[in-house]
Amino acid sequence: MTIAQISGCIGCGTCVKTCPTDVLRIDPKTKKAIIKYPADCQICHLCRMYCPVDAITISPEKSIPVIVSWG
Ligand code: SF4
Ligand code: SF4
Repeated sequence: MTIAQISGCIGCGTCVKTCPTDVLRIDPKTKKAIIKYPADCQICHLCRMYCPVDAITISPEKSIPVIVSWG
């Protein structure tokens, strides 16, 4: 499983810090986020939610149903 793509990244690094399973890295050459370890992605959507420029796309068919308890 992995997120679909990153497009329009400004290299802020937020998603790298946010990802709980360490999927994302900043490419040293381009200074933009890359999907370094796609197999580890849990489709948790945190990177997408925290990206300030909405650069991360997650295709709906790849998402797993999430049950959130706010209790
Ligand atoms: S969806 Fe979650 S696990 Fe996947 S890259 Fe984003 S923050 Fe990491
Ligand atoms: S949070 Fe968004 S803009 Fe920042 S490095 Fe990640 S993909 Fe790029």
